[in-house]
Amino acid sequence: MTSHNAIICRSLGIPMVVLGRDLADGIADGEELLMDAVQGIVFLQPGEEVYAKYRELDNALKALHNASEVQPETRTRCGVRVHIRANINLLSDLKPAEKFKAEGVGLYRSEFPFIVRNDFPSEEEQYGIYKKLVDQMKGKPVTFRTLDIGGDKMLSYYSNVHEANPFLGMRAIRFSLQNRDIFCQQLRAFLRAGAGEDTRIMFPLISSVDDFVAARDIVHECMDELDDEGIPFRRDTRLGVMMELPSAVEVVDELAEEADFLSIGSNDLIQYMLAVDRTNEQVSKLYLAHHPAILRSMKRIVSSALAHGKDISICGDLSADPLMLKFLLGIGLRNFSIDIINAPSIQRTVQETPLAQAEKVAKTMLEFGRISEVEAFLETLKAGAAEAC
Ligand code: PEP
Ligand code: MG
Repeated sequence: MTSHNAIICRSLGIPMVVLGRDLADGIADGEELLMDAVQGIVFLQPGEEVYAKYRELDNALKALHNASEVQPETRTRCGVRVHIRANINLLSDLKPAEKFKAEGVGLYRSEFPFIVRNDFPSEEEQYGIYKKLVDQMKGKPVTFRTLDIGGDKMLSYYSNVHEANPFLGMRAIRFSLQNRDIFCQQLRAFLRAGAGEDTRIMFPLISSVDDFVAARDIVHECMDELDDEGIPFRRDTRLGVMMELPSAVEVVDELAEEADFLSIGSNDLIQYMLAVDRTNEQVSKLYLAHHPAILRSMKRIVSSALAHGKDISICGDLSADPLMLKFLLGIGLRNFSIDIINAPSIQRTVQETPLAQAEKVAKTMLEFGRISEVEAFLETLKAGAAEAC
């Protein structure tokens, strides 16, 4: 669900189901299939009964993703303001962002323009893309994430040495710090596109305060250069850390002190905390957002950011799950950046939830030491027994 192939397929509106090779090999050429990419089911030669059921389900899904239902502002049942912003992977995502009334862009995954080209895009080319993004958001806040290549996002034209463990290798901010020219071109393009606008820049896969400070120093050098060249930009552009690594969680207080904001990248935080490759279907059952270690880490990150008076948001896919969303509200999160197609259901869950209930849910979930205990509790929540906690 959180592999970048899946993320990009969702952006393109292409249904995708991953099957084991033995199952895939069992499908003959020309065989009629019905693919349910929501639940991850493939029917071979579905009969009329299956089709009829799926026509019903399709209508129900359309109703669930009905953009006209979305209100421009989101509040909990007791009136606490919550912000729902969009994760943008391709510029084509801007249309749904507008349709679903996104209150800005909480995560722009800047690597996709790099992936689809045959060479690194120039500063000018990048500026064109980023400016379009900012212009189309019409004054709403936009958070640019610096290049996050490596892992499962390789560049065809960048001949790096073969890595045995690409997710533990030259990925994200590590690549940017090692390739300063490429990093500076991107930062200059971000800063230029943000002139006179409400934009921020955040760095992926930060593992230490030192990583953040090194990245921030380079931003300041780029700012000085732009200044010298008389090119407009905002000196007060806020700089943030994506919280995606266990090492970052351990130094979160120092990061919260240094950075202007933090954003939880739960897709990677889960992967790295639990040592479960997010692209490996063989271990996908072990990829558990509700593992007590993940719950406690998220609580720790949010508490630290709030104690330091810094903005905190989540931009991983975790908040699409209504039960986890209650937990996130309960630990104090108010800023959600999401695959915007989920805005109607996320807004509905927030609107139906009194904060006191979310806080109770979070408190209870944080007390468990075992996955099985959290799961049993989530089952009772699902059955609608929230008041019982
Ligand atoms: C994340 O890791 O949660 C995240 C938002 O970044 P990406 O999915 O692009 O790695
Ligand atoms: Mg990530």
